[in-house]
Formats: sequence, structure tokens, C-alpha cells
Amino acid sequence: MKTKTLKKNKVNVITLGCSKNIYDSEVMMAQLKANHFDVEHESMQDDAEIVIINTCGFIDNAKQESIDTILRYAEAKNEGMVDKLYVTGCLSERYKDDLEKEIPEVDSYFGTRDLPRLLKTLKADYKHELVGERLLTTPNHYAYFKIAEGCDRPCSFCAIPIMRGKNVSTPIEDLVLQAKGLAAKGVKELMLIAQDLTYYGLDLYKKRALAELINRLADVEGIEWIRLHYAFPAGFPMEVLDVIRERNNVCNYLDIPLQHGSTKILQSMRRGITREKTEELITQIREKVPGIALRTTLIAGYPGETEEDFQEMYDFVERSRFDRLGIFTYSHEDDTHAFTLEDDVPAKVKKERADKIMELQSGISYELNQLKVGKTYKVLFDRVEGDYFIGRTEFDSPEVDNEVLVLKSDGFVRLGDFAEVTITKADHYDLYGKLV
Ligand code: SF4
Repeated sequence: MKTKTLKKNKVNVITLGCSKNIYDSEVMMAQLKANHFDVEHESMQDDAEIVIINTCGFIDNAKQESIDTILRYAEAKNEGMVDKLYVTGCLSERYKDDLEKEIPEVDSYFGTRDLPRLLKTLKADYKHELVGERLLTTPNHYAYFKIAEGCDRPCSFCAIPIMRGKNVSTPIEDLVLQAKGLAAKGVKELMLIAQDLTYYGLDLYKKRALAELINRLADVEGIEWIRLHYAFPAGFPMEVLDVIRERNNVCNYLDIPLQHGSTKILQSMRRGITREKTEELITQIREKVPGIALRTTLIAGYPGETEEDFQEMYDFVERSRFDRLGIFTYSHEDDTHAFTLEDDVPAKVKKERADKIMELQSGISYELNQLKVGKTYKVLFDRVEGDYFIGRTEFDSPEVDNEVLVLKSDGFVRLGDFAEVTITKADHYDLYGKLV
């Protein structure tokens, strides 16, 4: 029934979910390549003998997308379009037993820390000398940079500790070596990621070591932008702000998921902080690093969220004027603490509340962007689209934040290069400009 000749030893890796999964896929691909497999990431050719799906198990939508992707490749396998199908990552870690029963076409399911076993199944060796080595799936000038795995936090709604385990920080020396290796390959921007970036070092050095790590990475030649993602508000290490302010190659940017703006809900979420303390922290961050761009993430429709609680969050967003904001609707995740609560906010209301916050944020983003018109920024160019070169300022992370659009007819810029751009026009999420 095979209708297509499959390439022997060719592996197609599919990545779902967050930047940490992208990092894990890149590490896996480097190991496969070193074992002489022909590896591709999300190849459209569909001629690979082996497919590996790195799944996400975070919330409903993400889980559904992972299941649909597994089913699609299971069907392709039944049609002879795939020879071997393997599944790894968070969904597999969390629901392996159910998945084995429900989708038996998959040859094997692996957990989030099972790379050596996966390689063994492919008759390949785990090469320790390659630790930290990656085949980048992002454009070569930027890379996600995972500094720790797992999480020790008790957030009530979150299943990540179930899938990723306890916090394990990677030693500073290993990370500096990795950064040097990436810089030697042309990487200029590092997005520092973890489940909880600010927890870095507490397990390994018995102290918060994020500021020290960033300083060491900022010393790496060739790294021009270091960006911080997934900071946690409670117990925030204020010394990190001094490093952001003092080091030129550390972006004036901080992604700090805050999850809600009502103290009652924050306490039920077990976030270890009140709204008042959160607002104090935001003020301190903006005082210590003037002009910093703050990105946050919120949840709408958490169990017990009343109209008043929601209004408190709405007012909090209106007052805080975040530069970047994303919002999820609450997903009732089994085995989490919040699963013991009643999921009492109807899906329709969850969505209405999330939409209301995004409508508010869109107006705030528009107003803040108008303030950039006439100013000149250092822009890193990522891609070409239609008539435009498209890049980002230090206030914008790839895939999630604003972009700067420069007409191709305006001049030439090489992708992966920085250039000075004067902003001529701005809308809700995009800036338009001219090369200086
Ligand atoms: S900090 Fe909280 S929300 Fe983030 S991964 Fe850890 S438990 Fe989940």
C-alpha cells in the first residue's frame, strides 16, 4: 500500500507548544544528526521514514492540537506514508498510558526527559560530548536559551511541574560555553527561557544566580541582545534590574507573567503575591530601568472569578499599561490543585472577559506605539514579507511582540543584521519606518 518511497534514516521532527519544546527538539535533532540521521524540522516533503512529534500538554487547546497532530501522522502511517512514528514531550509525559491505548499506531511514547531512551530505540547513542549542542530551527541570528528545566512553584492552575518535574538549573559554566558556541555560529540574540527564570540557581548554588548568569552571558563576544522571558513576580531578584540597566547588550525588556489582577484570585492561584505588591514591583522595575518594555500574561475565567474580580483585573491592566500582553482562558487541568475547585465560569464568559482585556490592551498598545513615531531604534531584521523587510526592536521578542516594517524599495538590509530605523508610522502592533 506504500504509495511513496520513504527516505531511509530520514527523520522529520514536529514541534508543538512553547519555546522550551523548540529548544528540546533542537537538542534532539543535533543528537540524531550526530548519529548520521538525515534530520529535518517540520518538513513539508513528507518523505521521512521516521516521524517524531514533540508534544505540548499545557492546556486544552494545546493538548487538542497535539492529539490532532498524532492522529494525522498515525493515519499517514496506516497509509504507508510513514514507517516509524514516535511521540515525546509534555502530553506524552502526562498521558502516556491513555495514549498507548487510544492511538496504538505510535511505535513508542517517551517522556520529557527520555532523550537517551528515544535515541536507543532508534539504535542511536546519546552523545554526552554534544550536551547543549543544537540544530537551530529559528533563523540563525537568534536562539532560545534554556537555563533550567522544571519548576518548584505551587501555582494552582498549572500542570507544568507534573510534566517537567522539579527545577534543575544548568551550571553557569555550561551555559557560557553554549552561548560561545552559538555566537561562533552567528547567533546575536539569546532569549533566556525556563519555567521560572528568576528561580535560577536556587537548587544548584543555594542562591538566586540569574544576575550573575546574565552578566557572564553579556561578556560573550558576539551576543548583542539578551532577552529575559518567564520571570516570576514573588521574590523577584531586584539585582537583575541593575544588570538590565547597566549592560548594553541586555534588552530593556522583561517578560513577567502575572496571571491576574485581583488579590483574591492571586491567592487562590497560590502565586504568593497580592495585587498591591505586584503594582509595587511594576513601579520599582520601571523606576530602576526607565523605558523598559514589560510583557505579561493573564488568565481569564479562573474558578470563582466574579464580575468584580474581573473588573479588578481590567482596572489593573488599564492602570499598568503593559507594553505587551497576552491572555489565556482558564483550562481546568486534571491533577492540578485548582482541579479541586469548581470550574464555574462558563466558557462563553471566559472568552468574553479575555476579549475585553485584549481590546483594552490593543488601545494601550496603539497609544504607546504613537510615542515611538519620529524616534530612531536599533532593529534586528528577521525576514522578508511581501514589500517589506521585517524586524524587531529590543522591546520585541520574536513571534509574540510588535514588528518593524521597512519597505524594500527604501534600501537594502541583510537578514540577521542590525540597522538603525526611524519610525514614521505606527498602528496597534506594527511600526513602519525608514532606514537611517
Ligand atoms: S511558575 Fe507557576 S505557572 Fe509557571 S511553570 Fe511554574 S507552576 Fe507553572
